[in-house]
Amino acid sequence: MNDYVLVLNAGSSSLKFSVYMRPEGGDWRPQSRGQIEGIGTAPRFFAKDASSAVIAKENLGDAVCDAQSALESLADWLRDRYGGGRILGVGHRVVHGGAQFTAPTIVTPGVMARLRELIPLAPLHQPYNLAAIDAVAQRNPGVPQVACFDTSFHRGQPAVAELVPLPRDIRSKGVQRYGFHGLSYEYIASVMPEVAPDIASGRVIVAHLGSGASLCAMQGGKSEDSSFGFTALDGLCMGTRPGAIDPGVVLYLFQSLGLSAQAVEDMLYKKSGLLAISGVSNDMRDLLDSDEPNARLAVDFFVYRAAKEIGALAAALRGLDGLVFTAGIGENSAEVRRRICEASAWLGLELDAQANLGHGPRISSAGSRLSAWVIPTNEEMMIAQHTGRLLGLTGTRAR
Ligand code: AMP
Repeated sequence: MNDYVLVLNAGSSSLKFSVYMRPEGGDWRPQSRGQIEGIGTAPRFFAKDASSAVIAKENLGDAVCDAQSALESLADWLRDRYGGGRILGVGHRVVHGGAQFTAPTIVTPGVMARLRELIPLAPLHQPYNLAAIDAVAQRNPGVPQVACFDTSFHRGQPAVAELVPLPRDIRSKGVQRYGFHGLSYEYIASVMPEVAPDIASGRVIVAHLGSGASLCAMQGGKSEDSSFGFTALDGLCMGTRPGAIDPGVVLYLFQSLGLSAQAVEDMLYKKSGLLAISGVSNDMRDLLDSDEPNARLAVDFFVYRAAKEIGALAAALRGLDGLVFTAGIGENSAEVRRRICEASAWLGLELDAQANLGHGPRISSAGSRLSAWVIPTNEEMMIAQHTGRLLGLTGTRAR
């Protein structure tokens, strides 16, 4: 009988999943991944196997309208495909672990109570992450679950990097810089000794450039600072989020333009960033393909903000040995990488144009003082590894 670990990443309208299998006595291996999207509107199911071949694609009925019904639908599919196997544990991506969860943890009622207290700090993500845990507990009460946090990797940063300089009573309510994308950064840190051994123990900035985008400054594989702060609105320009803006703008939206909290939240999370600048799309591929001047301006701004933050984090690290690109844009867009590297030439970075077009892994020239790399991220693998380890299911690393 095969043993499986299920990895879930639940959002407001989607449930992403990955299945890892452990053959008798072997390592964890990815089997399939996919998602139910459009939950509550027009739910669709999609899955690929480990070689990226499509193995499922169908529209689901209106009954799939929340976490519980989405999980039921996924469970039916899993039973058909992997019937006879055992799910030994479920690992979840949970956006917020606050200041207290500095590592993944086995879910208990007490842990859930503490994670619920963090909902106000991540209202657009945390409730859905927790709803998926509740749904699994309700359906399969005997299956152990593990919560893996996007914030944990950043705990242990210097006090100055975590500080939000507001009055003490406000800070005591949890207002500090947390940083996110931690599972992605942790994965990159874990493979750097193998893929980029020259820089693994040095000062490195990892650029996670996807529809959400952030930078992490690492020293010896540990987070020293990040461009994300209290929420995932801070830092770089993103697909639909603005990144860092003067908080005075937000006051103006409330006080002078009379916008509601809901309207401002919608604007900041869904209507800003590349989408707002270009007026065309939040998708980098569309912007790079477009001749619209505003699409070009959006790409210019994305590159400008990334290069400016790289300079700031290089200062935080007091110098830089390596720059790593990852996630959708970082892994796939040679043009965006080239432009960010050219803007970072002052740090001693010289690009190898051919290597960059071939997507690396090393994309800097042999003589470059600062080396640059492309390393694909794998947050699900990180969650599978944590889940296997915490549940005592594996002595070996997932592959
Ligand atoms: P992610 O959130 O990591 O899935 O990344 C999504 C982003 O990656 C979107 O903005 C996509 O347009 C972008 N992306 C994916 N492939 C490419 C590509 N070949 N060139 C440019 N951008 C890409």
